[in-house]
Amino acid sequence: MESSTLLAEQRISLPSDQDASGRTLGDEELDLLGQVIRSGTLTSTKGEFVRLLEKRFAEVLGVQHVYACASGTAAIHTAVAALDPNPGDEFVTTPITDMGALAPILYQGAIPVFADVDPRTFNVTAETIAPCLSDRTKGIIVTHLFGNPCDMRGIMELARAKNLPVIEDCAQAFMAEQGGQKMGAIGTIGCFSLQQGKHMTTGEGGLVCTSDPALARRMFLFINKAWGYGDPKPDHYFLAPNYRMSELQGAVGVAQLSKLKASVVNRVLAAARLTEHIGDLPGIETPYTYPKSMHTYWKYCLRVDSGTLPGGAVGLAQILAKKGISSAPRYIQKPAFMCEIFQRQRTFGSSRFPFTLARPETVDYNPDRFKGTFAALESALVLPLNERYTDQHVDYVAQSLRDAIRQLGA
Ligand SMILES: *Cc1c(COP(=O)(O)O)cnc(C)c1O
Repeated sequence: MESSTLLAEQRISLPSDQDASGRTLGDEELDLLGQVIRSGTLTSTKGEFVRLLEKRFAEVLGVQHVYACASGTAAIHTAVAALDPNPGDEFVTTPITDMGALAPILYQGAIPVFADVDPRTFNVTAETIAPCLSDRTKGIIVTHLFGNPCDMRGIMELARAKNLPVIEDCAQAFMAEQGGQKMGAIGTIGCFSLQQGKHMTTGEGGLVCTSDPALARRMFLFINKAWGYGDPKPDHYFLAPNYRMSELQGAVGVAQLSKLKASVVNRVLAAARLTEHIGDLPGIETPYTYPKSMHTYWKYCLRVDSGTLPGGAVGLAQILAKKGISSAPRYIQKPAFMCEIFQRQRTFGSSRFPFTLARPETVDYNPDRFKGTFAALESALVLPLNERYTDQHVDYVAQSLRDAIRQLGA
């Protein structure tokens, strides 16, 4: 008790993205929400806020078409469905991502084929994707993890050579850039999440974008039960859910989008300050980015060397927790393919579909093929970060980390 009182005196509390302290929600959102409520039109099929959010996000990103939808998972599902895979077709993707980027592949009857990652960035590369391609490959799905862009030059070169579409999962990478282009505008389709903890939020929600008119048409239909709104003889053209966003979310989204640039600047500045303060500490590596890339720091992920620091990422996290800093050692704990859904092939009833259609080598998940993935997760220590971090918050995290490293004996 006594020692925790002492610690409490030294502690400051960090802003959290799970409540108002770490978010930018305010009068702008309330004002637009009030307009929606007073209008009495809460559906985006008749209202104007979701359409406005789509139009403005398209301008920000530099793409032709954006559609809002119910979640980041729905955005990925819409992207996969727009490519219209046949059952058993394959999507090459990453084992270090949110399950919301993988479940939609299975829902469309296709097989996720996992590529290893570059342990420096936690991201797939052209070199790790290439050996996973087959004559069944329908597309490539990359995640720009933590806001750090994948090396898209190599990936797009490979995709073009094989005539494959690329889906960019930008749920953690709003406004991130590479070679002067925004992430989400480089591949064939870009997907974003507006979940509570992302760069901008509507509580739950998603955005999906493309500059390909035929794919845009299929995306719009997939979000809308494939009903041909506005067609001379509309029909339900194919199997599709209702993934629409409501006007309530659309209004919040429009207000949030107007603050996105400032939020991203704050995150980038806070991350730069943290890197400056901790870059010289032993046993840790600050984030690595590929050339010409701008990382927009959904989170700040360190790599911890357990050879130098006994206890590694887990040990550091325990000490940081005592200082009120809740970090996530090992991020998602294990590669996605170690989860029951893949290990036990739990999908539809007892059918195991679509795994029943998979080529055996795509579902054996031999650890030898995933050396980068295991090394990356073992070393990962994800520090929290958001747009409300001030210099004082950053300096507190830096000092706490410095103390923790000293305590671990380095
Ligand atoms: C958050 C997230 C998703 C899923 O988004 P939801 O809105 O939670 O469905 C997908 N991919 C990545 C990389 C994410 O971080």
